[in-house]
Amino acid sequence: MERDPGGPVRSGRNGFRQLLRRQIARQQAGPFCNPFDQSGVRWHPPWCGQTMRMAIYPGSFDPLTNGHLDVIQRAAKLFDQVVVAVALNEGKKPLFSKDERVRLVADAIQDMGNVEVDAFDGLLVEYVDKREGQAIVRGLRAVSDFEFEFQLALMNRKLNERVETIFMMPKETYTFLSSRLVKEIARLGGDVSAFVPPHVQVALARKLREV
Ligand code: ADP
Repeated sequence: MERDPGGPVRSGRNGFRQLLRRQIARQQAGPFCNPFDQSGVRWHPPWCGQTMRMAIYPGSFDPLTNGHLDVIQRAAKLFDQVVVAVALNEGKKPLFSKDERVRLVADAIQDMGNVEVDAFDGLLVEYVDKREGQAIVRGLRAVSDFEFEFQLALMNRKLNERVETIFMMPKETYTFLSSRLVKEIARLGGDVSAFVPPHVQVALARKLREV
């Protein structure tokens, strides 16, 4: 790797070339181009020549579970930026409103530098395009997830060739976990503390008292 030469810069065209070479050497050696710099935010300035890799993780998140969190953490290691995209999904008659689901995700990801939460309605591929994302992340728990997820991924590819779908497997202990089961257990008075973050457990108990 070329070292930053330092020293005075010549004038004219050679000076410009020298400045450019120096800038490139600095960027190659410097922390800004290092995707794993200590800030935790992997930001590549345009001169790095690297595209920021953004993944969209869509779902109902009604509510967020430890299985979702496991997928988010894995995706955050692979991508520069991960957007947890809460789908409005009124058709599914969610227990929590869109804003409540967003809030529960926001509280869980506050210490993750390269993860954000957003909400969307309508076609997922259009949302991915709007956000200029490269990939859709989905979680695969068991073979039973596969058929639906496979169909969905192929349909999304048909709608937008540019966007890839990446599947992530959670830790084995979360492979049986779903928001639906968590709600069911909580409704029946069971303990869900092993399946959701504490703030989700509190929100679930409160919500179930209301409905
Ligand atoms: P959707 O209504 O889109 O299925 P969910 O919130 O149920 O929304 O799930 C969002 C994504 O997270 C899906 O890809 C789903 O397979 C995945 N997922 C849900 N629970 C888990 C889990 N326990 N482990 C891994 N992935 C999961």
